[in-house]
Amino acid sequence: MANHSVFLQIAGVVAESVVDGPGLRAVVFFQGCPHHCPGCHNPETWDPQGGEKLSLDEVWRRLRYNPLLSGVTFSGGEPLAQPEGALALAKKVRAAGGNVMIYTGYTWEEVQAFSLPAVKELLALTALLVDGPFQLAQKKPDLLFRGSANQRIIDVQRTLAEQKLVLWAGKEDGRDGLATTGGAGN
Ligand code: SF4
Repeated sequence: MANHSVFLQIAGVVAESVVDGPGLRAVVFFQGCPHHCPGCHNPETWDPQGGEKLSLDEVWRRLRYNPLLSGVTFSGGEPLAQPEGALALAKKVRAAGGNVMIYTGYTWEEVQAFSLPAVKELLALTALLVDGPFQLAQKKPDLLFRGSANQRIIDVQRTLAEQKLVLWAGKEDGRDGLATTGGAGN
């Protein structure tokens, strides 16, 4: 089914990355971020009118998704500022057999307070979520998949199932910890 009615404001797409989550991943950089963290590496993504407005189908085409990929990482920018677009993209990733990882400047607790159904649905399809703003004072160059020590890599499905925060227990080079990736894969 065509997805011409769903559009995303996108800063860029990387077809293959090994530094934005476990395994080989495609990365979508969402355009627009309200957090404005001092020391942000991508300040060009802050303007919600910047980047490109693309249909979901065009984003997918640029991803060149293939079975060698573990999944897609939603980075930014702030993916949760476009919950409907992020949800539609997550559904495509899951339908292709991939897992979804999201970087957000909101803390997990703040995300939980969102009342938008699209955010709840998105979390149900998300394997990993890196939460919280980049904090320059807590910057550490050797942290796995995150920039500052306040940020957590959260195992979303275990956290939802156990109703308490569960951090990812996986390894950098594998799919460890993602076996319980939830959602219907639709
Ligand atoms: S949340 Fe991320 S993209 Fe947004 S300002 Fe902070 S570091 Fe930059």
